[in-house]
Amino acid sequence: MGPSTQEFEPSRDGEAWYVPAWLEAARPVLEFDVCDARSAQGRLEPRTKRVTLDDLVLFHGHVCDGLLRGAYAMRALGDVAFEGRPFDRTDLLVVSKNSPCLGDVAAYLTGGRGRFGTLRLDNDLGVGYVVRELSTGRTWEVREEPGFFPSLISEWEAALLDDSSGAPVTSSEKAELVAVNEARQWSWMREVLLASRPGDHYVVRSLDAAEIPEPLYEARRTDVVNREVRAPREYATPYEPLLGGATPRLGRVEGSTWEDRYDRGPTGPRVG
Ligand SMILES: [Zn+2]
Repeated sequence: MGPSTQEFEPSRDGEAWYVPAWLEAARPVLEFDVCDARSAQGRLEPRTKRVTLDDLVLFHGHVCDGLLRGAYAMRALGDVAFEGRPFDRTDLLVVSKNSPCLGDVAAYLTGGRGRFGTLRLDNDLGVGYVVRELSTGRTWEVREEPGFFPSLISEWEAALLDDSSGAPVTSSEKAELVAVNEARQWSWMREVLLASRPGDHYVVRSLDAAEIPEPLYEARRTDVVNREVRAPREYATPYEPLLGGATPRLGRVEGSTWEDRYDRGPTGPRVG
C-alpha cells in the first residue's frame, strides 16, 4: 500500500461539514465542561472550557456509533459522578476497551493518556468505561445496557474487518456492504440513540475497589504536578487573562521582587 491516490477537496473556514445536520439533536446533550492546568508546571485554571460534539468529531476524525456511544456513556457517568462539576482533566484515570472510537472519547474528555499510565485498556469492558478520580480514589463504572446496540450491526462490523482467506465477504461485495453498514450504523444513531437520554441505556455505578488494569507504561505527568498551587498574592502576572481572552498589560513587571528572584535562577538567594 502506498499513499492514497484520492483527490482531496480543500476545507473551507467555518464549515463543519463533518457534523451532519441529522446529529443536531445530540449537540446540546453532548457538551462537556472540562478543566485543566493553566500552563506547563501551572496551577489549576479555575475557568472551564466546553468540549462540544463538533470538537469530539474533529478530534476523532469521523462520526460513528462508537464515538457517539462513548460520548453518551461519558455523559451518563459525568452526570452521576461529578454532579455538575467539570471533568477535571488533571485528576482522572480512565479504563477503556481498545477501540479507536471509545478510546478517543476517553482520552479527550478525561485527559487520560497511555504515556502517563492514566489511560488503561480492558477489552472486557465492552462499550463503557471505568473512571477514577486520582485525588480521592473515588471510582465509577459505566456500561451500555446489553442488547441496546443491534447484534446484526455488531456481526457485520466484525465480518468487514476479517481479511483472512475464510472471510465471508469478497472485496467486490465489500464496496457495497461497507456502505450499507455505515448507513445502518448512522440510522441506528439517528433513530434510536438520539431519541434516548444518556442515563436511559448507559448504567453508572460507583465501584468500591475497582480492579484497574496495570499500566503498560507510566510516567510522571509534569503539567499537572502543581495543580493545587494557589494563585499568587504578591506577583501580578502580566498574563492574567480576562474572561474575554484579553490580556491587561504585557511585559516584564518592573520592580517586582519575584521577577528579580526568578532572574537569580532556581538556586539563587531567596526573597526576604
Ligand atoms: Zn470511530
